Amino acid sequence: MKGKGEVRTRRSLAQHWLKSESALESIVRAARCTKDDRVLEIGPGTGVLTRRILPVVEALISVEIDRDLCKMLVKEFGKKENFLLLQGDFLELDVESQLGNFEKFQNQNKVVANIPYNITGPIIEKLLGTISNPNIRPYESIVLLIQKEVAERIVAKPGSRVFGALTVRVQYLAECEYICTVPAKAFHPAPKVDSAVVRLIPRELEKQADDPKFLETIVKLGFSAKRKMLRNNLQSIIERDELTTILEELQINPQARGEDISVEQWVELSKKLKEKAKQNDGSENKFDNLDKIDIMDEDED
Ligand code: SAH
Repeated sequence: MKGKGEVRTRRSLAQHWLKSESALESIVRAARCTKDDRVLEIGPGTGVLTRRILPVVEALISVEIDRDLCKMLVKEFGKKENFLLLQGDFLELDVESQLGNFEKFQNQNKVVANIPYNITGPIIEKLLGTISNPNIRPYESIVLLIQKEVAERIVAKPGSRVFGALTVRVQYLAECEYICTVPAKAFHPAPKVDSAVVRLIPRELEKQADDPKFLETIVKLGFSAKRKMLRNNLQSIIERDELTTILEELQINPQARGEDISVEQWVELSKKLKEKAKQNDGSENKFDNLDKIDIMDEDED
């Protein structure tokens, strides 16, 4: 699609150009960029955000998949010493290994991006890692423009209808803040859905789960059937009565569902279940089944 004087857009690459000044300002403000920051941007597109970040940071490295856009970006920003453009698929690229001689761009401490929405989940996973395999060199902050509906799931509080496995996975790894809503009409072409700016601050993980792999698995199981009580969703690994006792010890309502308990309570629950598994060791052990559960398939609505 291309009108007069416009850059054509590729729908397959989720290209929607952000045109709202106030939305751009909100993103930049949320990132709190300073002259010491080395920033990573994913999907610069026509460079609207790049243009604002570049003058205020030490270094900016942008990853763009579209070759034609890369040519435009090089034309506009190529001479700036603190700008580096990588052409490629962010999900495939090992950014750090591309930076051999470009020391000044290494060890980025922040991410600021209006990302392609079709790969929101994989991008967040690449930036934060997973519960069992967190990013070993976490960013100080990650500010993203994403679909509003995904933003709401990421920042959801226990008891919310949209609290799910994604909520627990992301909130376990990062503090999550909803910054502001950006309406569909702030883009050209307008996407079908509204968007939102979120800020993720990766957490120190030392005091968290003893066995992250185990936590990851029970979170997956706990949300395996929607709107079901934990004691039903977890019955393949623990007797309902045993779970009721554990939930009572943790002062959680025995009728709670996955979406009713906080991330901290999920961590506590996984510890208790793990202890139970140890006690049961040697006897017929339902926890043995855990290896067979595929935790990676996408489980959100
Ligand atoms: N930041 C711009 C563009 C956002 S649209 C703006 O705010 O206007 C999303 C951008 O991500 C597009 O430029 C698209 O080409 C790019 N993109 C899509 N898939 C990508 C991928 N896998 N890796 C890197 N960039 C990608």
